[in-house]
Amino acid sequence: MIEQIKGINIAVEGCFHGNFDEIFGTIREIEKQKKIKIDLLLVCGDVQTHRNKHDMFNMACPVKYLQMGTFYKYYEGKERAPCLTIFIGGNHEASNYLREMYFGGWIAPNIYYLGDSNIIQIKKGNTTLKLGGTSGIFKIFDFNNPKLEQFPFKSEQLRSVYHSKQIDLYKLSLYEGEVNIFLSHDWPQQIHQYGSTKELLKKKQNFEPDIKSGRLGSQPHKFTLERLQPNFWFAAHMHVKFEAFVKHKSGKQTKFLALDKCLPGRDFLQVFTYTNEQKDLYDQFAYNDEPIELFYDPEWLSIVQTTYKLLTLWDKMPKLFEYNSALKELQIIKKDKFEEFLNEKHVRMKIFGNHKIKIPNNFEITSPPYDEQDTTNRLIPPKRVPLNNQMKDYLKLFNESGQELNGLIFYEPDQPRIIGEFVPQDFLQKQIELENQKDILQQQTLQQQQQDEPSSPKDDELNIQDFPFLQ
Ligand code: 5GP
Ligand code: MN
Repeated sequence: MIEQIKGINIAVEGCFHGNFDEIFGTIREIEKQKKIKIDLLLVCGDVQTHRNKHDMFNMACPVKYLQMGTFYKYYEGKERAPCLTIFIGGNHEASNYLREMYFGGWIAPNIYYLGDSNIIQIKKGNTTLKLGGTSGIFKIFDFNNPKLEQFPFKSEQLRSVYHSKQIDLYKLSLYEGEVNIFLSHDWPQQIHQYGSTKELLKKKQNFEPDIKSGRLGSQPHKFTLERLQPNFWFAAHMHVKFEAFVKHKSGKQTKFLALDKCLPGRDFLQVFTYTNEQKDLYDQFAYNDEPIELFYDPEWLSIVQTTYKLLTLWDKMPKLFEYNSALKELQIIKKDKFEEFLNEKHVRMKIFGNHKIKIPNNFEITSPPYDEQDTTNRLIPPKRVPLNNQMKDYLKLFNESGQELNGLIFYEPDQPRIIGEFVPQDFLQKQIELENQKDILQQQTLQQQQQDEPSSPKDDELNIQDFPFLQ
């Protein structure tokens, strides 16, 4: 008798780079050929969720590669993702829009951004899994920076905004529960040791110096991998497929898979079926068609509430980690403080632990979508990072209004802001002036660019017919 598999059919993708139509087209193609329903698409960053030109200019990228992409059609509802799609951020993103969803939220119907870091629960029938993830890439010089970038982002902040921050690693370090799948953009440092380094070097000779010096990948991710020991870890960024298998001292195991970017003929997608036994099945699929549901994770909510006060310190956030060069690893500073945070988390878990809170379907358009008829390079106001309905609903779970984060995470120039003693009083005026200067410069650069190079297509411009069936 053929066993009826009950589980979640999952597709994992490397880097999106704005190719929404192409990747969703590939998903539909796989569904047709395999006669299955993909329940969930997980994306490991570089998604480029530009709602409009203003978002496009908030992405770090050489001007000649600035492209609108196709996200705006999904944002305004003309197109819909074929399955629930969950992603983390990489180093090419509409950083203003992702900042708006700092704690995680729906960036379009059926497309959920996990936020700067997060752990949530996914349920389909009797199959449940805990999904974690953290956005950005690691650069040591920005990691211990106590403050977050304040919008409008100045040119150097447009890069540092996606560099991993200590607060996210601290939050993840406070998590003691089990995590099944974890997503990151860059790889955990040293992960190459647990797979075929030889094969990797064959495909990517230029990794040799970094591998030799032990600097390939992210230190915070190495720390998280050792702490959370998830069953699966998916990543991207290096533009190469790579598999590894980590056996932890505890006896637990992590299967690591990195995927390539979305280009014809490249390994950018992997399909498997997740079951409660944590088996990743590759040749059998689940046919149970219950709806897939998302829930907040009580332990994660407790961590967000416990660490909220660190955020509200603005520039005064203390250094939370230091690098031990002898051991070549990050270490938590002030273990006693960390213990206090853990204890506070345990107290809060007594409250959140009793509730199963569904992630609400509360997507709303917050900025005008791209107008295809608009051939000018006009940027779209308003230039704000609104404290939107989704973040307000989320912060209500902790009895917080979010107003104290205006100017730090959000940017609502018209709303009352709580100016701390460390924020200069003319801060707002200066930020607005900077933003205006930046706009003028961007428009001039773009106009110059268009005069110099009359629209030559990018080499890797994609067509749906370029995508062979992958499985
Ligand atoms: P992007 O994020 O701009 O799409 O591309 C990242 C590129 O940088 C990829 O080609 C990837 O191979 C390379 N890369 C990313 N991290 C490292 C690293 O730590 N060392 C080296 N040598 N290359 C890297
Ligand atoms: Mn990248």
